[in-house]
Amino acid sequence: MAGRNTMAGHVSLVGAGPGDPGLLTRKAVARLRSADLVLYDALVEPRILGLARRAQKFFVGKRAGRHALTQVEINALLVRAARRGRHVVRLKGGDPFVFGRGGEEALALRAAGIQFEVVPGVTAGVAAPAYAGIPVTHRDHASAVAFVTGHEDPDKAESALDWGALARFPGTLVLYMGVRQLPAIARRLLDAGRDPDEPAAVVERGTLPGQRTVTATLATIAERAAAADVGPPAVTVVGPVAALAE
Ligand code: SAH
Repeated sequence: MAGRNTMAGHVSLVGAGPGDPGLLTRKAVARLRSADLVLYDALVEPRILGLARRAQKFFVGKRAGRHALTQVEINALLVRAARRGRHVVRLKGGDPFVFGRGGEEALALRAAGIQFEVVPGVTAGVAAPAYAGIPVTHRDHASAVAFVTGHEDPDKAESALDWGALARFPGTLVLYMGVRQLPAIARRLLDAGRDPDEPAAVVERGTLPGQRTVTATLATIAERAAAADVGPPAVTVVGPVAALAE
């Protein structure tokens, strides 16, 4: 019998999807309902959190640029709670393994000998464009897609990204986290030789009430997004598919 006890003392790394509660997976809903403790991040909707009726809930994410807890503290908390026999849900926006640090947490849990599972979620880089009418691939327009972080560690002297390779990448670029850095990102892509006339779109609050899309070209997208006062969370799509928005 798969009673709750067989599940005790373990962690579920759960993707909450991009915001619209209708995009939660059935497994995510089941894990939220059975959780004793939910540790959640900034981009998780209150309506989704509300599904975890019997659980204690802790915010461990980033607010106003400051981390409530460091990654090391989060890892330690996951391990401690699981060792006390609790079913812990580590709830993350989108998919836990796409720019979600789920990989780091999974490794920490493995190192501590804690049982865990991963419940994938609908990632914002696919869902936000989709809700804006943009398919990230298209038979005629894009045969590949790259998910790129727009967040660069300011302490790192060298960029972790190969901008030349991204400029040459034959397909759609989907940039996460880069909305404040958009002028610098667009500049780097242009300097590295990406076509200034290539369509681009920024989708703000994708799948959520108040979703907005700004479309332009790679050369003008930063200016247009700033003029429209676009802020996080937003993803930027660069590629011919961006012209299909709406
Ligand atoms: N694990 C998440 C990504 C976390 S990084 C996922 O798979 O979606 C956080 C970034 O995701 C944000 O800065 C933004 O670029 C993007 N994002 C998350 N939710 C979003 C939404 N509703 N609309 C647009 N972008 C979103």
